[in-house]
Amino acid sequence: MPKPFESTNPHTGEVVETLEPMSEAAVERALAAAAEQAPRWAEQGIEARCALLRAAAKLLRERKAALARIITLEMGKLIGEAEAEVEKCALVCDYYADNAGAQLADSPVASDASRSLVAYQPLGVLMAIMPWNFPFWQVLRCAAPALAAGNPLVLKHASNVPRCALAIEEVLRDAGAPPGVFQTLLIDAKTAEGVVADARIRGVSLTGSETAGRRVASIAGEHLKKTVLELGGSDAFVVLEDADLELAVSTAVKARFLNAGQSCIAAKRFVLVDAIAERFLEAFQAGIAALSPGDPLEDKTTLAPLARKDLRETLHEQVEASLGAGARLLHGGKSLDGPGWHYAATLLDQVTPGMPAYEDELFGPVAAVIRAHDEAAALRIANDSRFGLGGSVWTMDAARGERFARQMACGCAFVNGMVKSDPRLPFGGIKDSGYGRELGTPGIHEFVNAKTLWVG
Ligand code: NDP
Repeated sequence: MPKPFESTNPHTGEVVETLEPMSEAAVERALAAAAEQAPRWAEQGIEARCALLRAAAKLLRERKAALARIITLEMGKLIGEAEAEVEKCALVCDYYADNAGAQLADSPVASDASRSLVAYQPLGVLMAIMPWNFPFWQVLRCAAPALAAGNPLVLKHASNVPRCALAIEEVLRDAGAPPGVFQTLLIDAKTAEGVVADARIRGVSLTGSETAGRRVASIAGEHLKKTVLELGGSDAFVVLEDADLELAVSTAVKARFLNAGQSCIAAKRFVLVDAIAERFLEAFQAGIAALSPGDPLEDKTTLAPLARKDLRETLHEQVEASLGAGARLLHGGKSLDGPGWHYAATLLDQVTPGMPAYEDELFGPVAAVIRAHDEAAALRIANDSRFGLGGSVWTMDAARGERFARQMACGCAFVNGMVKSDPRLPFGGIKDSGYGRELGTPGIHEFVNAKTLWVG
């Protein structure tokens, strides 16, 4: 029997609410409703589908304060960050409402036909398997293009954010989504595997760990259905000797400690060339020391707790193992006393190959510094990772920065800016960070039938 879902406040460790998982019969009803709705939703036409997204954007903005509170109480991020997340969800709904028509318009191609073109048609019901770290954004980033393209969606959200999952469903329902178009399935991972395999599901988008990605993609592959995987990352933040150090340092603190470091595109490996390493480190350490952990509902708090106890334990093991292998602890390195799952802002220097801080994803407030002799060594180190999600390079010479960024082995490379997602730009990774793209035009083209139409 699947366990009930617990919505737990990461700041206090207290269970706020317990929710029963859906029964097998309820899951079956949901899948049947989605499958029944699929042809109707496809026939609705793009205008009606985009109208739903516009209405959802409006509701997200109207309900921002209440939704942000649900996010903060359930996964612990700072309330200001939660509000910004809800606003960004409204933005992605508006973006696809404004652009999906053009992105999905017939695309004529000259050939031996009297008329030939590519038509973009819906695939059918999709499944979104989503994580807790940006519990609204990850879902809307996937749902907005899927719904605009005419695909109904079922959501299997992370087990620690059931209230967020239900709140998103409510927003879409209140915005006018017909029954079956967007449904939350309160199910555990094992039950979700069965849904992935179900013939009514035509594609799966997963954001989460490598382990979950490999497992879900293998089941989907066995059943010949498409997947998009957005997995972990270990983004390099490369500082060259001609960088604007003040800007680089202030951005570094934000890029690593936003959301308590629990972001796939957080800067994780700080690759510093020798010429500026000491100066950068001194200012970076001061910025880290100034962070203030505490209640994420309070405006004065600048460092949030981790979302779950087990995540804090894993992080601490990675820190200990890195120190055991020779990394130097410059700040933090321990859990904070008191209830909840707070972890000290941590700075590790002299990180080298073989250490977890070099090889693995550290999903929490821990910055790993790796020294590089020069630009060529910095590039080698930046690319010496099995991940390839994002990365940034810092230099006053924009042309040099662009040259460097082009050589970075990742899906999103930034020059003098923090790696972030933007509804207008494609987002995704290479190597063990996954495959496929979300957002922008490539994002909406992932789950459509790009049909060739040839008229003689
Ligand atoms: P998971 O990958 O386990 O969870 C992500 C989602 O996948 C959840 O909804 C989870 O459900 C679901 N899931 C997991 N296994 C399966 C399965 N076999 N079949 C179907 N669905 C499944 O991540 P964790 O929360 O355990 O985090 C562990 C690590 O993953 C982090 O420390 C971080 O390194 C990485 N991660 C990366 C994220 C990113 O943004 N790329 C986001 C979150 C985590 P359930 O919660 O019920 O297990």
